[in-house]
Amino acid sequence: MRRKMAAGNWKMNGTGDTLAELTTLANDHAQAGCDVLICPPATLISRAAERVGHTTIAIGGQDCHAAEKGAHTGDISAAMLRDAGASHVILGHSERRENHGESSEMVRAKARAAWDAGLTAVICLGESLAEREAANTLDIIGGQLAGSIPDAATAENLIVAYEPIWAIGTGRVPTLDQIGEVHDFIRARLERRFGAGVGKTTRILYGGSVKPDNARDIFSVANVDGALVGGASLKAADFGAIIAALSA
Ligand code: PEP
Repeated sequence: MRRKMAAGNWKMNGTGDTLAELTTLANDHAQAGCDVLICPPATLISRAAERVGHTTIAIGGQDCHAAEKGAHTGDISAAMLRDAGASHVILGHSERRENHGESSEMVRAKARAAWDAGLTAVICLGESLAEREAANTLDIIGGQLAGSIPDAATAENLIVAYEPIWAIGTGRVPTLDQIGEVHDFIRARLERRFGAGVGKTTRILYGGSVKPDNARDIFSVANVDGALVGGASLKAADFGAIIAALSA
């Protein structure tokens, strides 16, 4: 019912040379049993899209501006991402929320812009360590979900990524029960807000220190429909192993 997805977020890593990893990935996983999405830095989107144009690998941006165009020096609109060859865009990543002061309201406006441009939004939700230790995880996730996702969500234009901030780039991974609790909660909230059709078919990815050696266990958790991967998406061998775990 929900096709699994392996999504890679290269963050601010990669120049032209790095595209060789994408070529390897495309050659090795032409027949992947799951959807594959790579979100390189904006400077590489059009070259990446050209490289994988003949494959099923999709290319995405890592952020977009909420406005269609205008005086926003250094920003990129959703239509520009689309024009460069992207089909998806990551929005509300915790690094954007923390480093650029992005609120859920801003993420929601960006998601609307992404949808207007025909992009699928990968909307990230996640609690800090302090929030988890204070037993506030579900409140935080519920609030971010309500605030960040516009009303017009469908299973085609939305992918949700649960990314506990304390697990990103740290090697520290929640227990399978903790992952399962949050994913079940997100699923229930999606069903309550958007109805069973959208709620049951929208994909929910887990992100935070997913590696080849823990991927299979994480993917065994109910309501985990794939992964949003940072560090381990930079090397085709590592990301390929995660794709293989999802495709098994
Ligand atoms: C991320 O930043 O989205 C992420 C999940 O990073 P990592 O896999 O490196 O923890």
